[in-house]
Amino acid sequence: MRIAVVGTGYVGLVTGTCFAEMGNTVTCVDNDAEKIRRLREGIIPIFEPGLDTMVRSNAKAGRLAFTTCLPDALETALFCFIAVGTPVSEDGSADLRYVMAAAREIGDSISGYKVIIDKSTVPVGTADLVRKAIEEGLARRGLSGLEFDVVSNPEFLKEGVAIEDFMRPDRVIVGAENAHAAELMKDLYEPFVRNQNPVLLMDVRSAELTKYAANAMLAARISFMNEMAGLCDAVGADINHIRIGIGTDRRIGMPFLYAGLGYGGSCFPKDVKELVVAGRRNRVEMEMMKAVDAVNERQKTYINTLIERKFGADLSGRLFGVWGLSFKPQTDDLRESPSLVLIGKLLARGALIRVHDPVAMEGAAKALRDAGDRVGYCEDMYDALKGVDALVLATEWKEFRQPDFDEMRRLMKSPVIFDGRNQYDPAALAGMGFEYFCVGRNVPRGR
Ligand code: NAD
Repeated sequence: MRIAVVGTGYVGLVTGTCFAEMGNTVTCVDNDAEKIRRLREGIIPIFEPGLDTMVRSNAKAGRLAFTTCLPDALETALFCFIAVGTPVSEDGSADLRYVMAAAREIGDSISGYKVIIDKSTVPVGTADLVRKAIEEGLARRGLSGLEFDVVSNPEFLKEGVAIEDFMRPDRVIVGAENAHAAELMKDLYEPFVRNQNPVLLMDVRSAELTKYAANAMLAARISFMNEMAGLCDAVGADINHIRIGIGTDRRIGMPFLYAGLGYGGSCFPKDVKELVVAGRRNRVEMEMMKAVDAVNERQKTYINTLIERKFGADLSGRLFGVWGLSFKPQTDDLRESPSLVLIGKLLARGALIRVHDPVAMEGAAKALRDAGDRVGYCEDMYDALKGVDALVLATEWKEFRQPDFDEMRRLMKSPVIFDGRNQYDPAALAGMGFEYFCVGRNVPRGR
């Protein structure tokens, strides 16, 4: 089948590549000419395990192409995915300007039947707006009456395991208003659900809202655990025991029960905020979503509070090593990364920083450029510890799990660790002579 994908970011590039991998002919479109130029040379703009090899092999086989020209991509395509960004607006709502621009361009380009698919995460009612924008374009071109369908097909991939998620989805959500479009979508996804995982057909509005509901539930679990962790520290309990104690209950389950620095990334923060605004728009107070968001905002400074308790509010003259910059491991995505918030607050208190991240240093250097040489970028994780007053672990990359603690103690000015991801065993660390602070497991020794 022939497919166009508008927007070649984390979702669009994975979507296009995975459809090509199944034998389809895909053209990925982006209005970032530099990105398209690099993709044509086989240079992948993001870090996503396995994606580079897959992009190159499909491009070589002639199934995957890249262009800035949407009309060219649409000419022969039956399916057109919209996978552009929907960042947060100032009022917390989803900013639809990129989706609507794409819809208008589609309306200005198509001249035959297409299935237009909203893959971006968009508020309820967006498919109607997309339909209207396309109809207006067709009317301007004297093509009123040309048939097309607008389908909602939200994406559930996780950065870091995006290919696996796309190739073997737990489920595929398809919101379609008629059986013809639904059947075409089912056919398109058939190779991805041979494991019998379902393609769930529903109305468009329910599909649009399902995506928000999923992210809201996951974000809520994280905020719940972070709130419990705060109470653990206050009463001398261990959040790890709580996690296992409740996660083994089959009604609850183990995933997404980790306390930490709060959720970040390009999805949870903005999607929770959009739900709050969506509620307001529809006169439904989203009390839980407001609380989930508020707890998350508070959590981002939890480790800073512990640091200030140890070193005082004035951190000038102090040097901190920070391990991890991306919002989670296995990605270079820095959007809404709690690590950057933490670093920003340390800098505001006068501290100097040495950072290390396996893949996100280039982007971080851009994000932190105002700090100039107050932030040092270290290619080696141990270099980031030279002469530091403390290490802050902010992203749980695997290489940070079992580091050489002897070497660390030798390099650091003082053996103090603030672990925002609960990676280490407090008793073991104390035994090695470290002063160790974490999230919800700061049980006084001897208790
Ligand atoms: P992104 O910012 O990485 O990519 C968006 C791309 O769209 C950019 O390359 C941009 O240049 C391009 N673009 C914008 N307007 C365009 C236009 N008119 N024509 C052509 N290209 C255009 O965004 P992303 O992370 O891939 O997210 C895309 C959507 O998918 C969002 O709605 C997001 O909420 C949703 N989503 C993201 C993830 C994720 O893990 N990143 C997962 C599920 C869903």
